[in-house]
Amino acid sequence: MKKTISLILAAVMILAAFALTGCSSTDYKSLDGIKKAGKLVVYTEAGFPPYEFVSDNEIVGVDIQIMKAVAEKIGVTLEVKDVAFNTICASVKTGKAAVGAAGITIDDERKASVDFSEPYSSTEQYVIVAIDNDSIKTVEDLNGKQIGVQEGTTSDFLVSDLISKGTLANSALKSFLAPAIAAAQIGKIDAVIADKLTAGIIVANNSDKYKTFKLTDKNGGDVGETEQYGIAVAKGNTELLAVINEVIDELLKDGSIEKWVTEYSELAKKIEESTASTGESTNG
Ligand code: GLN
Repeated sequence: MKKTISLILAAVMILAAFALTGCSSTDYKSLDGIKKAGKLVVYTEAGFPPYEFVSDNEIVGVDIQIMKAVAEKIGVTLEVKDVAFNTICASVKTGKAAVGAAGITIDDERKASVDFSEPYSSTEQYVIVAIDNDSIKTVEDLNGKQIGVQEGTTSDFLVSDLISKGTLANSALKSFLAPAIAAAQIGKIDAVIADKLTAGIIVANNSDKYKTFKLTDKNGGDVGETEQYGIAVAKGNTELLAVINEVIDELLKDGSIEKWVTEYSELAKKIEESTASTGESTNG
């Protein structure tokens, strides 16, 4: 009798274990969960060349190349999803995505919700204005102007900060879903702030319309800091982070990342920017 009871108990426990693992929703917050799912789900925002953009109906770019190498190392397939930039860290936090790869600047606020890989690229903030605009040269000149940014980005945080600190006390902040969508509104708005390489590509694709330069103060001093891009994973997903860091380390050492930055910048410059939608999401 005792033996039967313990056998039944063992069976129940095994069933319970199956129910917990087999039937629970996919767990992307651990390397094991990702291996079981057989896929690495990456969230990105595909309006950010050269790191991610659409070419021939496919999302390509530096971040995608990095994630391909990570998926290969883990032995799973890669699934890339295009979402609004300001939702990426939240989706990584809740485990909807295993990874956020979107030229995401490593910053303290984001570090409170996700963990970051080692840096793999760096950037500064650039201004885009109309080609014939001679009145905007420094951050002080932006006061009283309408400034476009991609929502939830470090450009957005920087301009908001300058507005609240008074440097841009009389400016209006307009946020859009992607930097190119913001730039397409120049004329209605005065300037766009975006990460350096993306700004450069937008201008290269519209060199008759816009120009771009580094955001400085009137003495030529830096406004904002040099930023570092990292790959975001769920807090505590140390095993996945270790694989990502190993891959980044290899790709930095063998020059792949630098090569991809050049290659994908060239490719992005050949692609007509999509300006079909205004994509304005909030009014400042
Ligand atoms: N590096 C900027 C940020 O993290 C912009 C990233 C992006 O637009 N994809 O906010």
